[in-house]
Amino acid sequence: MTAIDVQSPPSVRPWWMENAGCQGKPRLFFPPPGERPAARDRRETRARKICLECNVLLQCQDYARTQRELGFWGGESEIERAEAGFAPTTPVIGLRRHRTAANG
Ligand code: SF4
Repeated sequence: MTAIDVQSPPSVRPWWMENAGCQGKPRLFFPPPGERPAARDRRETRARKICLECNVLLQCQDYARTQRELGFWGGESEIERAEAGFAPTTPVIGLRRHRTAANG
């Protein structure tokens, strides 16, 4: 078995979250239960547009990768993070409390 390096979540909200372009839009960045593939594609397309104009994209992407986050962060979906070598370690949404940029 290969060990996965996951950093502990920060004890304080990272500074860059104050500048997140997704604040107040968690429904665009996290899937509802049972979301179908076509709906996911549409939702993630809209989220990606917001990310590409966000001033903290790189900080967000690095955070999501090192924290193995679920959802759409830093212009990347969970699948894209996994393909980059940063697969989420939590398979079921809702088991872990998240401090998200989108929740503001
Ligand atoms: S998910 Fe990250 S990059 Fe995208 S808008 Fe939110 S803070 Fe910015």
